[in-house]
Amino acid sequence: MESVQARNFINGEWSSTAETFESLNPANSRHIVGTAPKSSASDVDAAVAAAKKAYESWRELSWVTRAEYVDRFAQLIKRDTESLSRLVTQECGKPINEGRADVVEALHMAQYVAGMGRMPNGYTISSEIAAKDAFILKKSKGVVACITPWNFPVAIPLWVVLPSVLAGNTVVFKPSEETPICGHRLAELFAEAGFPAGVINTVHGFGEEVGDPLVRHKDVNVVLFTGSRAVGKHIQQVASQELYKFAATEMGGKNAVMVLEDANLDIAVPAAVMSAFKTTGQRCVSSGRLIVDKKIEPEFTKRFVEIASRINIGDGLKEDTFMGPLINQEGVEKWNRHNGMAVQEGAEVLIEGKELTGPDHACGNFVSPFVYRFKDYKKGTFCLREEAFSPHVAIIGVSGMEEAVEVYNDTDYGLAMAVITEDYRKWRWVRDHADFGLGYVNLPSIGAEVHLPFGGVKSSGNGHPGAEGIIDSVTHRVAFTVNHAKEIAMAQGLSTKF
Ligand code: NAD
Repeated sequence: MESVQARNFINGEWSSTAETFESLNPANSRHIVGTAPKSSASDVDAAVAAAKKAYESWRELSWVTRAEYVDRFAQLIKRDTESLSRLVTQECGKPINEGRADVVEALHMAQYVAGMGRMPNGYTISSEIAAKDAFILKKSKGVVACITPWNFPVAIPLWVVLPSVLAGNTVVFKPSEETPICGHRLAELFAEAGFPAGVINTVHGFGEEVGDPLVRHKDVNVVLFTGSRAVGKHIQQVASQELYKFAATEMGGKNAVMVLEDANLDIAVPAAVMSAFKTTGQRCVSSGRLIVDKKIEPEFTKRFVEIASRINIGDGLKEDTFMGPLINQEGVEKWNRHNGMAVQEGAEVLIEGKELTGPDHACGNFVSPFVYRFKDYKKGTFCLREEAFSPHVAIIGVSGMEEAVEVYNDTDYGLAMAVITEDYRKWRWVRDHADFGLGYVNLPSIGAEVHLPFGGVKSSGNGHPGAEGIIDSVTHRVAFTVNHAKEIAMAQGLSTKF
């Protein structure tokens, strides 16, 4: 693929900056996927001004008319599924099957949002007074900043951009600096779909130079952020300085698969492998912890380690690759750091992961799985509590369901969990006592669908899950009451005499 020159898209016009940065293929650093503008606060100002201006006319359109723009966009995603999938794989390293799943998820979101245009955007509700009609309406908020991570570079932007514009808001989209070319391609498709100038603006660049001024901008009403806990916390703190500004932040996780005593290992082992190694452990819902009842732990571990030792690691464009590279060298350093901590904290290393340097791996950020065991749980262990965002996986022995959940909950995060059991009473107990936003039974801890809420609790999210529920984050729910009588009657028996 030829190297692409990404540009900003502001007020319907393409532009660049004097300085640019490169986006490298994580499987082969000699392949420059493209270059992108290294924007600054003045580009943010221009994009927000364009969005603010466009808001005045965009909000006047009906939900159905706005949905038609989204529908046109959905058709373009469908048309370009194959080329987008390859781009995802080349820019963020996922195996092509996962690149395709990213784009299909994006398509599903576009279809879902287009359909939402014909769904209720409010409802009537009775008043205490028979002659009054009361309504609850969802009204747009204004300019929405969409700040997104690299690991789902096509799907996640659409989770946030499309519901925002359907509801009548306008958008400034800041793609991840790791995947600007995917962001640029989306901007090209927004333009081709015919969204009016200023409705969706795209500004490329880095967190501190573009993301931060965007969050602080006085004319940004809503921030929809998906990314790490540290940045999400910072954004919440900045946004809270203005009373009118709202930030929904979806962040990381330290997820787990809990394998209970009665589990079917033919489900438990593949569920654990997928949870641990899909996207090279770089999903927010990846499981770095396999919490296994001691009664079956030896057999589970034997089978898990056997598979983890022989998975295919390589360039994602090869059809037989199961695990691609890490996104960058910082990711490799973080993986090394967490491995070192596990050893320091007394883990028994079962597979000593390595940085791969052979002929197929020399120019990429490839590592093999690091798998370790704690026969007993030690409360507060760093490597069992913090997100490693890599193939760094602990097997932890526990005695019974209650201890499994206690171990699961011993982290500040609360995003995704899976429980493997044949006993409906057990999964129900786990459901009611584990802290999570996404729960699965006899499945991996991964597998989002766009019509389900997607978000975490505790430090994983601040209670505004994406996907299905995002319209609530980008609208005000307003009450609107109409009197049909010839005189005024008030609720609560309030007197009208004066
Ligand atoms: P990141 O937090 O480093 O970056 C995310 C985005 O924030 C990028 O666009 C970045 O440029 C921007 N940013 C960075 N500093 C900023 C600042 N000071 N102000 C404003 N914006 C700033 O995350 P990442 O490395 O791209 O993604 C990985 C993280 O995202 C992991 O922790 C993962 O668990 C999480 N994630 C969460 C979800 C979810 O839905 N909960 C989904 C995917 C990824």
